[in-house]
Amino acid sequence: MLSKKLQDAFNEQINREFFSEYLYLSMSAWCKSGNMDGIGNYFHVQAQEEHQHAMKFFNFIHDRGGTVLLKALDAPQSKFKSLIEIFEQTLEHEQFITKSINTLMSTAFKEDDHAAVSFLKWFIDEQVEEEASVSKILHKIKLIKGEGHGLLMI
Ligand code: MG
Repeated sequence: MLSKKLQDAFNEQINREFFSEYLYLSMSAWCKSGNMDGIGNYFHVQAQEEHQHAMKFFNFIHDRGGTVLLKALDAPQSKFKSLIEIFEQTLEHEQFITKSINTLMSTAFKEDDHAAVSFLKWFIDEQVEEEASVSKILHKIKLIKGEGHGLLMI
């Protein structure tokens, strides 16, 4: 059985993962409306991954006999200045998610909940990958200064 403290924290994380899905969908929409279909598709795929992250928490809470409580989602930003801004924000957002996963892990340790620790390990590893891949893309876009033929290549 999941402790009340962990259950509350996991429900918060469901909201953060669904907000991530919403944010990346919004970025996808901005890219697609600017005819940047390739990057638009990239963010669509990212959004789908965030949905799966939320559902992992959703299922884990149920598997542990807890109660899922879905909260209201904030509206994501819908206008962006540039692709550089989008990827900077994505990196910042993923760093925020990494912090919140780390906090969850610390709570799981404090609660001596080994199943939760084991479950969260996947997310710890996932965040390393997320941050690395977003950093790489951001670096490339900065190299080409976010414009011209280079963007078409990306
Ligand atoms: Mg996520």
